[in-house]
Amino acid sequence: MSEITVLAVVSEIYPLIKTGGLADVAGALAGALAAEGVAVVTLVPGYPAVMSKINAAEPVLIEPDLFGGGAQVLRANAAGLDLFVLDAPHLFARPGGPYMGPDGLDWPDNPFRFAALCQIAARLALGECPQFRPGIVHGHDWQAGLTAAYLAYDGRPRPATVITIHNLAFQGQYPASLLAPLGLPPRAFVLEGVEYYGTIGFLKAGLSLSDRITTVSPAYAAEIRTPEHGMGLDGLLRARSDCLTGIVNGIDDAIWNPEQDAWLAAPYSFETRAKRGLNKAALQKLFGLAADQDAPLFGVVSRLAWQKGIDLILANLDLIEQIGGQLAVLGSGEASLEEAFRAAAKARPGRVSAMIGYDERMAHMIQASADALLIPSRFEPCGLTQLCAMRYGAVPVAARVGGLMDTIIDANEMAIASSLGTGILFSPVTSGGLGVAIERARRLWDAPKVFDRIRANGMKTDVSWRRPAAAYARLFRELASAGTR
Ligand code: ADP
Repeated sequence: MSEITVLAVVSEIYPLIKTGGLADVAGALAGALAAEGVAVVTLVPGYPAVMSKINAAEPVLIEPDLFGGGAQVLRANAAGLDLFVLDAPHLFARPGGPYMGPDGLDWPDNPFRFAALCQIAARLALGECPQFRPGIVHGHDWQAGLTAAYLAYDGRPRPATVITIHNLAFQGQYPASLLAPLGLPPRAFVLEGVEYYGTIGFLKAGLSLSDRITTVSPAYAAEIRTPEHGMGLDGLLRARSDCLTGIVNGIDDAIWNPEQDAWLAAPYSFETRAKRGLNKAALQKLFGLAADQDAPLFGVVSRLAWQKGIDLILANLDLIEQIGGQLAVLGSGEASLEEAFRAAAKARPGRVSAMIGYDERMAHMIQASADALLIPSRFEPCGLTQLCAMRYGAVPVAARVGGLMDTIIDANEMAIASSLGTGILFSPVTSGGLGVAIERARRLWDAPKVFDRIRANGMKTDVSWRRPAAAYARLFRELASAGTR
């Protein structure tokens, strides 16, 4: 198996900087591809969180003026990741998140911040860093979208390009007047280029100009070609159907390993999964829920956002109480949803509890304690929390959309008869639909052997990166074998 080199381009990577699943994927996929003979070097912005964690950084490219300030590219290692870090203090050295300031508003110079990432990616792809000649450039989401544009309009022979859609809802759309300031030629402003409904579309450019498009599940790859889920890009995606494939995500099964998870009150294996009860007791105490092993404990680990159907959970709080259940929520996001959960916890002491914030340790504890994990997403490109839930033995109760339906086997009558079910899928994605699913969960809970079989099936499912990484490796090899374009 010949070794190939991939330049990955991404705006966040676990464990250096993370706002969601994108970071998990970027971090874990790089490691999993190494086992497939694919060497990944990842270009990331030099946010303070990244700069503080890298060591032995060598400058490999110096740029005196990158959109209004000096910049250098550092070759670095951190947490086992092989990196290029774009150290551009005028763009990235600031407090706040990768995309938003402390005021919760997008950074006004985001088009330049991520165009800078893409411009540097293109230069690395074209071999401007000695000894680095990638066979493939792999961009993730809109922040990497312009990479393919800079390469296309440069004109020099270039490696093959792949863009992966993690969430079509975020597109990076900016005024047409930025064309020249972003260093794009007038001929780029066409339907086949960066033009998007009269504006510049970063993701659109990546989808138009990359050789291949992947997204994070086959079901989402089908959904986004429909007007209902295409978010304005369905026409383009239909036109490029031949180049579009879905590959489900995995999770890092070393980070998510209940047997060796120091964050748990009681680590456990498949065989000793009954010890989950000790974690449940600890979580009930920590969250101020009634100490009750018989109450089915529903967990939530999520961004609190419309996409995630969080309001549907709020609409089912009475039902969860009526069936004798408990709810433990970990999440942050929209202020109105955060407030609603705070109020619900106050109004339903011992039954509903919410921890508003972002807390890795608590996410592990909920997965190890909850009997079921609620995931009522209105759309879900892949979703990672259902994979973590299965690995930890929390039964996912999830909307029948996107990657959720590709990764969960609904425990319907026939699936139970054949010992196959790994969770509960529901549609329509409404409060009523979720209610029916919660009632199904309760009925299964009342048949402990059946419930434990579903739990066990989930724990036995391979949710690692092994199979997905092999699929990416096959794609990369096929493209690289065709040489430069
Ligand atoms: P998305 O990327 O759309 O937010 P995913 O399910 O793909 O959703 O990935 C979410 C990731 O973020 C998972 O690893 C999940 O455990 C983690 N996560 C989400 N909310 C929190 C939180 N409040 N605290 C800790 N981890 C969280």
